[in-house]
Amino acid sequence: MSRLIIRKVAVLGAGVMGAQIAAHCANADVPVILFDLPAPEGEPNGIANKALAGIGKLDPAPFASRERAQYIETANYEADLARLGECELVIEAIAEKMEWKLDLYARVAPFLKPGAVFASNTSGLSITALAAGMPVERRSRFCGIHFFNPPRYMPLVELIPTADTDAAMLDALEAWLTTRLGKSIVRARDTPNFVANRVGVFSILAVLHHTARLGLSFDEVDLLTGPRIGRPKSATFRTADVVGLDTLAHVIDTMQATLADDPWHAYFKSPAWLQGLIGKGALGQKTKAGIYRKQ
Ligand code: NAD
Repeated sequence: MSRLIIRKVAVLGAGVMGAQIAAHCANADVPVILFDLPAPEGEPNGIANKALAGIGKLDPAPFASRERAQYIETANYEADLARLGECELVIEAIAEKMEWKLDLYARVAPFLKPGAVFASNTSGLSITALAAGMPVERRSRFCGIHFFNPPRYMPLVELIPTADTDAAMLDALEAWLTTRLGKSIVRARDTPNFVANRVGVFSILAVLHHTARLGLSFDEVDLLTGPRIGRPKSATFRTADVVGLDTLAHVIDTMQATLADDPWHAYFKSPAWLQGLIGKGALGQKTKAGIYRKQ
């Protein structure tokens, strides 16, 4: 098996996942450049810097040591794209919108290092459709790399190849993720939401439906779907706040758009109250307001 030499990683998107993936790489002594949009005013890397400062709130000890935090540099897409040429692996973790991801791919592709691996952390968009946003000659080194939240503690990473993904590259990436980042890999096919989210979001939707049908409160449902069944950290609505309500809605939209033949298709809709919170900018933990903390 060919080895993948990864000296530096670029993470595109300093949100809930991107900042934590960067921190996880840093904890494994892998230098990272964390990119995001330039802040509208003031400090150009404000979004990425703020996200890094904020991950301490998502994870009380995001870095294994103070030194590890120094492995992360921040950057933005306007001034720093040439720095992508330093990185052998690029992990894209921007918002779950196909158009936004494709726009970004068109901007970054000319700056990628020859032979660099480019992988999307999408929750469930088509990897084949995303790969089409890359120049043809780069598609053999493109795949899905789906980390789970929180990436430091969740061992699962789904690896999703397309028909064009180079098999030896995928084997080498799996070996790197396993040995360097300590992950357990599940290879998934390029189907909507892959494996874990297809099952997970399906069960969240069933809970949403029965919550409304039975007139239950969020607290009651979280007690039933969390501590009472021995899963203290995975109660439904608390998890939704941690994931991000906009991200959850995007994933549900993908199911609505791509699973028309599914017998449960009618359930693949975000409830009006969820849309209402999103409309107010209450997106969960990342905006400090969501299902549990009202604005
Ligand atoms: P987020 O909303 O926390 O962060 C999204 C980031 O994308 C932000 O930093 C934002 O500045 C940036 N962004 C927004 N629009 C952009 C654009 N047009 N161009 C470039 N950058 C833009 O999102 P997240 O929860 O970190 O999710 C990121 C990706 O990871 C998504 O594809 C999501 O489906 C996936 N994912 C999320 C979770 C989760 O639990 N939140 C888990 C696994 C995978």
